[in-house]
Amino acid sequence: MSDRSSELTNSPTHQIATSRHRGWIEVITGSMFSGKSEELIRRLRRAQIARQRVQIFKPLIDNRFSERHIVSHSEMRIESENVRNSDELVQHVHDDTEVVGIDEGQFFDANLPAACNTLASQGKRVIVAGLDQDYLGRPFEPMPQLLAIAEYITKTLAICVVCGDPANHTQRLVASSDRVLVGASGLYEARCRHCFDPHLAGEPEKR
Ligand SMILES: [Zn+2]
Repeated sequence: MSDRSSELTNSPTHQIATSRHRGWIEVITGSMFSGKSEELIRRLRRAQIARQRVQIFKPLIDNRFSERHIVSHSEMRIESENVRNSDELVQHVHDDTEVVGIDEGQFFDANLPAACNTLASQGKRVIVAGLDQDYLGRPFEPMPQLLAIAEYITKTLAICVVCGDPANHTQRLVASSDRVLVGASGLYEARCRHCFDPHLAGEPEKR
């Protein structure tokens, strides 16, 4: 690794000297229907408009809507590359890439936080969107680990379809104990803390 950590100091000289070290991690997280992908696409578009070199990735597991795009529920879309895991993601990032966008972070492996650290340490702005909880309301790895190391966190809330309060939960509407049930609208809706019912989807899976 670099010797950057050994030169940590708050002196103004240091700040000027390291102003070209631009890397950091942003996380956009919340329930389904809270606008995570929209917000990710919005930030990436701004970077593209500023002619920054942008690369966008999503995990291969998510084939809904479009093969080579990230698509929000509101039909915003942006071109993306599919990768099988976080190691492959790091390998696919070009040296001159300035901004790395990652969607569906919760479907990546446990190495995603380390991969994002690597890219941020190379001076890249890394923006990750992903679900923070699964259908039972449990933290959805590796997002909690990513939140712990991110410089910037945006928590997005949906609106509860039952009562209209801010919604922090993804309610599964069909019985299934699979943690991942990809795609298909009608399987999920946004609910607030009080209207959320994890048992509606059946018993928790054994882990
Ligand atoms: Zn509610």
